[in-house]
Amino acid sequence: MARYLFVAGGVMSGIGKGVTTASIGKILQSKGFKITAIKIDPYINVDAGTMNPIEHGEVFVTKDGLECDQDIGNYERFLNEELTRTNYMTTGSVYETVIHKERNLEYKGKCVEVVPHIPNEVISRIHQAAKKTKADFVLIEIGGTVGEYQNLLFLEAARMMKLQYPKNVLFILVSYLPVPQMIGEMKTKPTQYAVRTLNSAGIQPDIIIARSEVPLDQIRKKKISIFCNIHEEDVISAPDIESIYEVPINFEKDNLGKLILKKFGLKERKKDLKDWQKLVKIIKTAKKKVKIGIIGKYFETGEFTLADSYISVIEAVKHAAWFHKVKPELVWLSAEKYEKNINKLKELKNFAGLIVPGGFGSRGIEGKIKAIEFARKNKIPFLGLCLGMQLAVIEFARNVCRMKDANTTEIVKHCRYPVIDTLPEQKALLSEKKYGGTMRLGEYLCLLKKGTLAYSIYEKANYWEKKRNKKGDILIKERHRHRYELNNEFRKELTAGGLIISGINPERNLAEIIEIKDHPFFIGVQFHPEFKSKPLSPHPLFREFIRAALREKTSNLN
Ligand code: GLN
Repeated sequence: MARYLFVAGGVMSGIGKGVTTASIGKILQSKGFKITAIKIDPYINVDAGTMNPIEHGEVFVTKDGLECDQDIGNYERFLNEELTRTNYMTTGSVYETVIHKERNLEYKGKCVEVVPHIPNEVISRIHQAAKKTKADFVLIEIGGTVGEYQNLLFLEAARMMKLQYPKNVLFILVSYLPVPQMIGEMKTKPTQYAVRTLNSAGIQPDIIIARSEVPLDQIRKKKISIFCNIHEEDVISAPDIESIYEVPINFEKDNLGKLILKKFGLKERKKDLKDWQKLVKIIKTAKKKVKIGIIGKYFETGEFTLADSYISVIEAVKHAAWFHKVKPELVWLSAEKYEKNINKLKELKNFAGLIVPGGFGSRGIEGKIKAIEFARKNKIPFLGLCLGMQLAVIEFARNVCRMKDANTTEIVKHCRYPVIDTLPEQKALLSEKKYGGTMRLGEYLCLLKKGTLAYSIYEKANYWEKKRNKKGDILIKERHRHRYELNNEFRKELTAGGLIISGINPERNLAEIIEIKDHPFFIGVQFHPEFKSKPLSPHPLFREFIRAALREKTSNLN
């Protein structure tokens, strides 16, 4: 039977519970165990697909087309594996199943109640994930913070599992220890309260991960031990560090892996963190910089700038930069400023490469198109992701093919040149307001035309499905999340003008990749390669984008 590790958060959100969970997974994996990780989000949304990225961060997409929380992305990146929809649940999705079962008489006439039927459904999903992945360890991250009303039923499920399988269930509390400026001393009281709250849900943590700005000292360790009813060696210090990828290495220094195994009565099967250690060494020692601009709009919230909305893109750039042993320098460029002041475009010359990531709606669109035009004309390496690809097509149509008011029907419903248009099946869905989970989602095939840049990138990297057609074209698989596509009615005119369609979906003849000639690197993809990039296997498109950027421009740290 699998072992289950529940991870809950104390004191406040945003303290790196996801990275902690992923890192624990990584170190157990390095000891020779099969790991899987589940994320529980306590909100009513059935999935994360309808949420605004500014509020909730990036929506991650699994290969089987689930729109979920960015933590699933963290798990994939750390475990170097692909997860599926069995690894994710929300309050909404759990209730949806229970209500559906009730309507189908699956509870055989019983009164269906919040407890135990909701926690039972949660437990059954956890078992399902364990079975499907054949994991030795299942990590279950409960979203939110203990004490919140929203995640109580998930804590209840965890408590019930412990009662049922006392030797196979462990609780980890990731808590925060503030060091208030005016006091200058680390305070343990909020963590003490968090543990009491957890106790009132019938749960005693076995391990406390103490997140703070600085390492935990012996006095604080002792205090937590006494007041939280836990041994000192079970309190792990987790101070802020520069890179999230260093977390597993730091945990290993504290022997967290061994501690967990010991609690389950297990021994390590092997020790293998070498590749990870190599990666962290590069992260910490790379000197030469590559400066990449990300032109987007989901950055600002009040006075703060959020990078969370584009987390997979950022990570993919980092992975690729480290592959070339350089330090990524990412700069957020708000597209709207290029609409207000065209002169600002000149600043784009300072970048070694530019990315226009995915997005929805009209804000900032014209600014992004201007920036793409600038990148095309000034031969700045450019990578367009999903919306970024669509806008590159619009720019090309307007400025090269002279289709003056070319646009996407997402923005202008009736224009003369709708070069980007709704996927046929989306029309009915949109008119019926069926927005949730209805985009073209998840992994689809794409055929790469021999002789194109995209073909050579994937082929050289050995990143394809090992299937060729008679012409020698190769198949790849990439993850999608969109409702609009390149309008095939304009394909002829666009290609006559010089646009190269280097990748198409063979089943539906949809344009998946565009590129142009006589440019150091100009590629737009209808899919999201960033979702597949992992630190130990960076995505080839990002790798080659960074290679081109380095060729064009490099700068030194000093
Ligand atoms: N809004 C565009 C579409 O739905 C692009 C989506 C995206 O960038 N993920 O097709």
